[in-house]
Amino acid sequence: MEYMIGVDIGTTSTKSVLYDMEGKVIAYANSGYQLYQDVPDMAEEDPDDIFDAVVEVLGQVIRKGKIKRGELKGISFSSAMHSLILMDKDDQPLTRAITWADNRAAKYSEELKENGLGAEIYAKTGTPIHPMAPLSKILWIKNEKPELFAQTKKFIDLKTYIFFRLFGVYKMEYSIASATGMFNIFKLAWEPQALELLGITTDQLPELVEPTDTITGLNPKYGKLLGISKNIPFVFGASDGVLSNLGVDAIDPGVVAVTIGTSGAVRVVVDKPVVDPDGHLFCYALTKDKWVVGGPVNNGGIVFRWVKDQLFAPEKITAEQMQVSTYDILTQIAEKIPAGSDGLLFHPYLGGERAPIWNAYARGSFFGLTRKHTRAHMVRAALEGIVYNLYIVMLTIERVTGKPKSIQATGGFARSALWRQMLADIFEQDVTIPESFESSCLGAAVLGMYALGYVDDLSAVKGMVGVTDVHKPNEKNFEVYRELLPIWIRLSQVLEPEYKSIAEFQKKHMK
Ligand code: ADP
Repeated sequence: MEYMIGVDIGTTSTKSVLYDMEGKVIAYANSGYQLYQDVPDMAEEDPDDIFDAVVEVLGQVIRKGKIKRGELKGISFSSAMHSLILMDKDDQPLTRAITWADNRAAKYSEELKENGLGAEIYAKTGTPIHPMAPLSKILWIKNEKPELFAQTKKFIDLKTYIFFRLFGVYKMEYSIASATGMFNIFKLAWEPQALELLGITTDQLPELVEPTDTITGLNPKYGKLLGISKNIPFVFGASDGVLSNLGVDAIDPGVVAVTIGTSGAVRVVVDKPVVDPDGHLFCYALTKDKWVVGGPVNNGGIVFRWVKDQLFAPEKITAEQMQVSTYDILTQIAEKIPAGSDGLLFHPYLGGERAPIWNAYARGSFFGLTRKHTRAHMVRAALEGIVYNLYIVMLTIERVTGKPKSIQATGGFARSALWRQMLADIFEQDVTIPESFESSCLGAAVLGMYALGYVDDLSAVKGMVGVTDVHKPNEKNFEVYRELLPIWIRLSQVLEPEYKSIAEFQKKHMK
């Protein structure tokens, strides 16, 4: 037998899956770690905890899979984007890994937006100007922690750190690089304008490699620990977002991947890098000739969770007694209300918003309430509002990639048939729910198989991903949504200028 391992280094845990070359799952392991939030807006992780988790999950799948020597053909990596670690002259970390969720660079990304430099840099890098990006983070460190900045030999990310500890070299693949805000996606090189702004040189950044590049010569200590030869190729791989497109078989032109988990995203694969004139979309590399255009959304399933916890506490108790999911009870309640919630609209911006409006001050609202509306309307309006917002992201993507053809949808939302149908009705597209298990691990493994010549093409993934549900748009429903969407969009524009004032009031008065 021949096997491939896909590893996904995530924000809360690292996952590893052992596959055969047909993409069948042979073994799975998962290891979590702590998120440090010592001060407001901080979101850090200890890179050595993550390194230990990587070694742990690799060891577990190798043991569980009972693979014999010579059967493991490669290990390929996915990881979360936008992390930053500063390394000193002795190659020791000067910081923890500052993750995408860390907001301390907000002042500097705002400045970049205001002085126009942000738009210039975005047009070359395809990374929206935001505190998540290493570009903003390095600017923040340069200004507010100059002593750390001065000691930094290399600015790297988590995956580069893991490879450094395994192989002793600083190499970053294009996919993770394309999410730093410092990488020119058209020239496949570090962008001089970004580096000049930061006052750093290319020597202070990792060497760039392709996602399909491989490395051998594993540090013997870990070879021994894992029981694998130093000749096993490790594939640099890509980032979790783009590999998830691959892992759910959304790589053909016009096939859109929609995710509604805690947060959400809409992503489409194109064959050349593209940017959006307004700077609202990202463009990240999957390989040198496949790029993923899309928008990340803060307010996905977390909003449904808020509805459950804040508006349906009694149902939560009933659900616990009946040992069913409160979400299922809420879905049944929402089902009784017609599409469009009798004209109740909801803007889901409970946690500020990234795409489509990129406004950290954005706040949520119900609009159109009458005495006839009930809590049932509110839950349905909330589910619809989350999907309307994702649909606006889709409309922005359409402007640069053309009309979508179909949707592959994943995430916790897919447990609700009502919510899945809503996605088909609002997007007016066929929605397929792929049988997805750790889609970024599968994406990493398939990229690895391609890199090492076990499959000719990334489309080999098609035979590896099953289908659980298919939904077709319901004409009656989408006609209602077509009437409401323009109101929802106009309302967003009317509310936008007030977000900052209400957010500032809340900051001042809310305990
Ligand atoms: P994550 O994005 O953190 O990996 P999931 O993809 O599991 O998490 O998504 C979690 C979200 O899925 C929850 O916040 C909730 O909104 C939604 N969800 C979970 N269970 C159900 C359900 N039975 N019906 C509808 N939505 C659900």
